Amino acid sequence: MYKPSGQVEQYPLKDFDSVEKARRHHQFRWIFLIGAAFLAIFSTINFYHDRNQIAFILLGSFLLASAINVYTLKTGNFQIAAWFYSSILFLLAVYLVISGGVESTGPLWVYPIIVIMISLLGHVYGFFVAVILIGVLAIFMGFGDFQGLVPSDYDEPFKSRYVVTLLALMGLAWAIEWVRSWGSESFNTLNEKIIELSRTDQLTGLFNRRGLEERFDSKVNRSKRGGESFSIGLLDIDDFKVINDKYGHLVGDAILCKVSDIISSELRTIDTVARWGGEEFAVLLSNTSLSEAVIATEKIKKSVQESACTDTKVTEEITVSIGLTSYQPSQTLMEIIDIADAALYQAKIEGKNCIRTSSERKTSQQSGLHIV
Ligand code: GH3
Ligand code: MG
Ligand code: MG
Repeated sequence: MYKPSGQVEQYPLKDFDSVEKARRHHQFRWIFLIGAAFLAIFSTINFYHDRNQIAFILLGSFLLASAINVYTLKTGNFQIAAWFYSSILFLLAVYLVISGGVESTGPLWVYPIIVIMISLLGHVYGFFVAVILIGVLAIFMGFGDFQGLVPSDYDEPFKSRYVVTLLALMGLAWAIEWVRSWGSESFNTLNEKIIELSRTDQLTGLFNRRGLEERFDSKVNRSKRGGESFSIGLLDIDDFKVINDKYGHLVGDAILCKVSDIISSELRTIDTVARWGGEEFAVLLSNTSLSEAVIATEKIKKSVQESACTDTKVTEEITVSIGLTSYQPSQTLMEIIDIADAALYQAKIEGKNCIRTSSERKTSQQSGLHIV
């Protein structure tokens, strides 16, 4: 029987959502800091040189970006903020090309804008917005009827090469963003698989200890919120060594799977069953008092006895002994298992194939037992 040695190790993997949130957080922080620094510096320089129109546009962009940054930090709504940022950048790009910026160098700033948009909006939306932006800029630069709007010192070879280099950069930024998102989706899938494996027993497919610990924690939280009671039982197959010795390990494994199926089928979906170790199972019975737990596990005990060896070579009757206890506020899983284990031990020494419960108000050190 299991002798507790301490707390089950805490689950070490962060869930993917929090990793993605952290990525978005860092992404926004750095894009804002770098972008805002550039906008503030260039706005100041333009004011200094009396280029007031562009200075005001840059200052306005800086203020809007700061407001969005405050909103994002407060709400955590990154998607809306990404669209806000991208809209400002879109308008700024169009303005810089139409006005020419300072000495017709405005179009150069569209390069980082394309990269930022794709990074913020992702490889699908970012790509479409970038295509639209480049299309609009191409039209303004002379592929449509807007010649008079843009500065005349953009010469023809510059215009066509400008659009082509924007398209090339967009393709690259799209590919990098696509690979990044593919990588993080693969990471997500792998992470989910690892989480699944880390809480599953390989032979029976039931929860293992880690899985039980997680379920126990969520039951404890529910119990704290709503005062819901629950019980825990430890089930141990009687004389299982005899089965292994007589029929071999493979048959022993088949019996373990059979017993796990029987336990699962006798429980409600709100209950949890886990393989606690070798031939021991733990059941967590939601919203169940100790006396109700006795009735529920009595059914399991009967079912195992009736059908655990059907369709196998085993001729011996398979029986289980069960130790039960109910959750007392502030108990840890190890403490409650310890008490159920003591009740199970009592069941074993009193002849096996029976259920014993702990006295409800005792701690693991003083656990008294009474016979039902
Ligand atoms: P008791 O009634 O006191 O519980 O006696 P028992 O024979 O069931 O208990 P004991 O602890 O002596 O033996 C448990 C056996 O369970 C020994 C071990 O080989 C077997 N066992 C543990 N894990 C597995 C497993 O995964 N597969 C198989 N086939 N056997 C297992
Ligand atoms: Mg055992
Ligand atoms: Mg046993």
